[in-house]
Amino acid sequence: MNTPVPEYLADLLRNCKAFEGGQLATYIPELASADPNKLAVALTTLDGIIYTAGDDEYEFSIQSISKAFAYAFVIEELGSTVVKEKVGVEPSGEAFNEISLDQTEERAKPKNPMINSGAITVHSLIPKTTRADRAETIRQFFSKLAGRDLSFDLSIYESEKDTAFRNLSIGYSLRNLDVLESDPVEIVESYIKQCSINVTVKDLANMTSVLVNDGVLPTTGERILSRQTVRQVLTVMTTCGMYNAAGNWLANVGIPAKSGVSGGIIGVLPGQVGLAVFAPKLDQYGNSVRGIDIMQQMSNDMGLHLLEGI
Ligand code: GLU
Repeated sequence: MNTPVPEYLADLLRNCKAFEGGQLATYIPELASADPNKLAVALTTLDGIIYTAGDDEYEFSIQSISKAFAYAFVIEELGSTVVKEKVGVEPSGEAFNEISLDQTEERAKPKNPMINSGAITVHSLIPKTTRADRAETIRQFFSKLAGRDLSFDLSIYESEKDTAFRNLSIGYSLRNLDVLESDPVEIVESYIKQCSINVTVKDLANMTSVLVNDGVLPTTGERILSRQTVRQVLTVMTTCGMYNAAGNWLANVGIPAKSGVSGGIIGVLPGQVGLAVFAPKLDQYGNSVRGIDIMQQMSNDMGLHLLEGI
């Protein structure tokens, strides 16, 4: 690839505009009014240099991409043994909002942290302090990774909270089985607030840089995550990050990734690059249609597939 990176990224977006298809998410009413034509891409190098193209200043709610970073946060706070006792690492093969409990062990637990039952449980493990509730603690953590003060999108938050029947029923089931140890309504609402944190593709690229760079934030040199935490997070992103299309993703793109229902996708090739894309129209699995196309192109052009040429 000899084209300079900014031109390469701009070309990618130009070519992908022809790529139609997909639907806006509707199950959070506010997401249905998103602009379907927004399109953005960002790339971070190992040393934290960010390249972007398209609507790179456009903010959207992070949604399920938050699950990967919240998982990293609780592992770092509590240790992986405690977290693994609560949430498994097996792909569920089911939709993200299935309860998917593993009941084969002594204690029931959500199959993995990338589906809602696992992510709600992970959220419940974020320590509450007198100065910050769980959602605020995670907003501060995400802000540190993004390198700027991120905000909640309160209209997205209220919109999802008003229609959160499915997540509330997951919360009650988890409480019934003692997976959640306190008020499920409070935990689910706070988890929904986590999902409403506003980001741009540039923020997401900055956030991935800590995973690319073995737990160290390249912009400040600060170690944020241990090597083991990074490995654990990238493992579940690889096996469970793309809803129930994780197998196709691994075959076609081949890097650890996480997508969200607002249309964002992040991808991480450890030691090399972090990628972030945004385009709101989704396929039947809930993954961004144009986002997948762009990621696939980048993987092919840059030879990113983990299992290629080894
Ligand atoms: N806030 C959404 C939910 O929990 C996130 C879903 C997603 O991005 O997959 O239902």
